[in-house]
Amino acid sequence: MRLRWLGCSGYEIITDRGTVIYIDPWLTSHAFNAPISASDIERADAVLLTHAHFDHAEDLPEIVKRTGAVLLAGKEEINGLNQIERLPRDQLRPVQWDDIVQVEGCKIHVTKAKHMTQAQIEVSIPSIKESGDKSGEFQAKVNEFQAKVREILPKGFLITMESGLRIWHLGSCIPIPELATYSEVLRPQIAIVQVPPKFEDSIGLENVKAICQKGIGPSIILPHHHDKIFGDQSTITDVNLFVKGVKQAFPELKVLNPKLGRYYQFELQYW
Ligand SMILES: [Zn+2]
Repeated sequence: MRLRWLGCSGYEIITDRGTVIYIDPWLTSHAFNAPISASDIERADAVLLTHAHFDHAEDLPEIVKRTGAVLLAGKEEINGLNQIERLPRDQLRPVQWDDIVQVEGCKIHVTKAKHMTQAQIEVSIPSIKESGDKSGEFQAKVNEFQAKVREILPKGFLITMESGLRIWHLGSCIPIPELATYSEVLRPQIAIVQVPPKFEDSIGLENVKAICQKGIGPSIILPHHHDKIFGDQSTITDVNLFVKGVKQAFPELKVLNPKLGRYYQFELQYW
């Protein structure tokens, strides 16, 4: 299996049998130069949406239509995206917590997640205006999008591949008790955890602690959501602090600080 980080929470996963899955690909308005654009994506079997915030969902309609991939997302979120661009009905798979969906040879378990509250967001990131969106153009785009697409229940996705390899994208989740249970019962070997803008709040490390209780948990950890969103250095998390924190708390874990757009290969035999 190989995967690459596409910026923000976006990951592309390609299984050994060639199943292509995108999770939260956000490319068009990303403040970095995203390694690919939505129009570069020719093939996808599934696109998974953890929650319908602009920085996770902007490019979904285009990618779903271009590729013919199935879209796994909440029902209300699908309805909202449909208002932005009409999506082919037979590609839509409305999901809720703990649904299990088969895509090609992969089994996808929809896990429960809880987003940061608005108050926590305001503490962790300075206002968009202060952080680079001087013209208000970005905020206007976000507002227009969010007026149509509303977030209901945030989700994570735990994918069991054809080979048996299990990878879990926790979505924009803060630590909740259910994480330990998923980890124990579903046994993901790789976990992609949220490290939100500004590491001071330590949500990233707390998430790792939540999924690695009782000595049971993934062997490999990757971060998501740690890069800048609004075009200013002040919103970037120093992901090295996260890596250091995890290594200190769990020396046996492998923590990656993925380079944008670079492929990383994983094989089942490690486990
Ligand atoms: Zn986000």
